[in-house]
Amino acid sequence: MKISSAEFVKSSSKLAECPPADKPEYAFIGRSNVGKSSLINAIVGRKDLAKTSGQPGKTQLINHFVINKSWCLVDLPGYGYAKVSQTSRKQWQGMIDQYLNKRESLMAVFVLVDGRIEPQKSDLDFITKWASTGLPIIVVMTKTDKLSGPKLEAAIETYKKTLLETWEELPPFFITSAVSHLGTDLILNQIEEWNGAFEAQ
Ligand code: GDP
Repeated sequence: MKISSAEFVKSSSKLAECPPADKPEYAFIGRSNVGKSSLINAIVGRKDLAKTSGQPGKTQLINHFVINKSWCLVDLPGYGYAKVSQTSRKQWQGMIDQYLNKRESLMAVFVLVDGRIEPQKSDLDFITKWASTGLPIIVVMTKTDKLSGPKLEAAIETYKKTLLETWEELPPFFITSAVSHLGTDLILNQIEEWNGAFEAQ
C-alpha cells in the first residue's frame, strides 16, 4: 500500500471522545521507549507524525491519525512505566480496557516488543489478556537493526518460545526496524487486507 496522506485527527482521553468509528482502525501499543513513535512514523513515511515520547507516561491519550483518508492508525499510550502513580495506572487501565473492548471499528492491535530485551511480563500479560478476548493481536519486534544476525535469530526464537508457553499457535509475529524500515511493508500489507475485510462487512 502506498501512503498518499497521513493526518492527525485528535487526541482523546476516553472512548466517548474518539472520532466516529466509520473507518477500519489499527492500534499500536507497547512499553515506553519500545520505539512506537519511530515505527509509526516509518510506516507512514513521515518524520514526526507521532511524537517521540520525551516524558514517558505523561500523555495518557488515544491519538487518532487518518491515513489515505480511508483508515485510522491509533497511537495508544503505553504500559509498564515504572514511575507512574497508582492513580494514573488505574486511569490508563480503564481507558485502554474501554477502548479495546468497545471500539467498534478496531480491526487489530499491533503490540510492540523490544527486540533487544528479553520478553517482559507486562508485554506477555497484555498479549495474553487481549488475545483471549478474540481481538486480533500482531506481535511486532522493534529495533531489530540493533541485533546482529545470530543475536536476532536467538531473540526471535526466545520470544516465540515464550509465547508458545501460553498460546497453542503463534500469533502473527513481525520483525521490524524504524531505521531500516524492515517490516513496514508487511504491516501495511496486513492492514490493506483487513481494510478489504472491513469494506466487505
Ligand atoms: P516510544 O516511546 O515507544 O514512542 O519510542 P520512540 O519511538 O520515541 O523510540 C525510543 C528510542 O529508541 C529513541 O531513541 C529512538 O531513536 C530509538 N529507536 C526507535 N526505533 C528504533 C529502531 O528501529 N532502531 C533503532 N536503532 N533505534 C530505534
